[in-house]
Amino acid sequence: MRYGFLGLGIMGAPMAANLIKAGYQLTLWNRTALKCEGLVALGADQAATPREVIAQADVTFAMLADPAAACDVVFGPEGVLDGISDGKGYVDLSTVDDGTSRRISAAVTAAKGRFLEAPVSGTKKPAEDGTLIILAAGHEGLYREVAPLLDVMGKKRVFLGEVGQGARLKLVVNMIMGGMMTSFCEGLALGDKGGLAATEILEVLAAGALANPMFAIKGGLIAEGEFTPAFPLKHMQKDLRLALALGDILGQSLHSAAAANESFIRARAVGLGDEDFCAVFKTVND
Ligand code: NAP
Repeated sequence: MRYGFLGLGIMGAPMAANLIKAGYQLTLWNRTALKCEGLVALGADQAATPREVIAQADVTFAMLADPAAACDVVFGPEGVLDGISDGKGYVDLSTVDDGTSRRISAAVTAAKGRFLEAPVSGTKKPAEDGTLIILAAGHEGLYREVAPLLDVMGKKRVFLGEVGQGARLKLVVNMIMGGMMTSFCEGLALGDKGGLAATEILEVLAAGALANPMFAIKGGLIAEGEFTPAFPLKHMQKDLRLALALGDILGQSLHSAAAANESFIRARAVGLGDEDFCAVFKTVND
């Protein structure tokens, strides 16, 4: 079996690296070709287009920025659809909305391919450590077939049935995370104005029922002024936008997520999109 991997950003590169280290033969493509270098040095092959990857691989994984990127790579020139043929598998790990996932699934399936959506929960470090949580839905046979590879990339996986359910669960999780981050940053900012050190606030949070790894890790980074992206802020805002759109479609009001989204829109507008999502603190604390 040969495998493909499209999209070697913060998440895709370490996930692909773990597959290569586990002994899987990968053909890679990334829009910015230079980013393939490190993985080619590990033993992967590099292709010039997504079509070439799909043509060479039995199953191809994709880890792309957003719905526009996911669609460009599938429907664009020299794209995934140009390479799909009978029985080939396409596994989209990107965080997109359920409508986008269904659109890609329908096109891949119409070309006689098999489609699995498998967005992931967890950030850069879990991607490096192979401890992501994988939210799969779609072709169950393909899910079973790629389970050993998912287990290289993640510590837990769930199969959620029809295409779209993995995308929806991922948006639910990230909507909660975006809300938590803005509340957390507002708390730190309020404390700061009230003469309380971040370390004092973090110590008390860590000791009680609000303790969680995100507050502990991001709180330390915020206190140090360290905003190198593990999860780029622009992607968090994208996830909030997509979650709000899902709420609109399903008739679910999402007051606090809408407020959180405004904070992230503002942070993007002032140029923080490529910093870590905890950089929303900088706009909250003004
Ligand atoms: P990233 O570092 O920004 O990487 C994005 C990838 O998408 C890059 O390979 C980029 O190519 C590619 N891309 C963007 N636009 C494209 C286009 N129009 N055509 C082709 N390729 C395109 O993002 P990331 O952090 O790895 O995240 C990838 C996905 O995982 C996103 O959906 C994100 O929401 C999700 N996610 C991220 C995290 C996290 O903590 N970082 C956690 C869970 C899920 P270039 O290299 O050429 O720019």
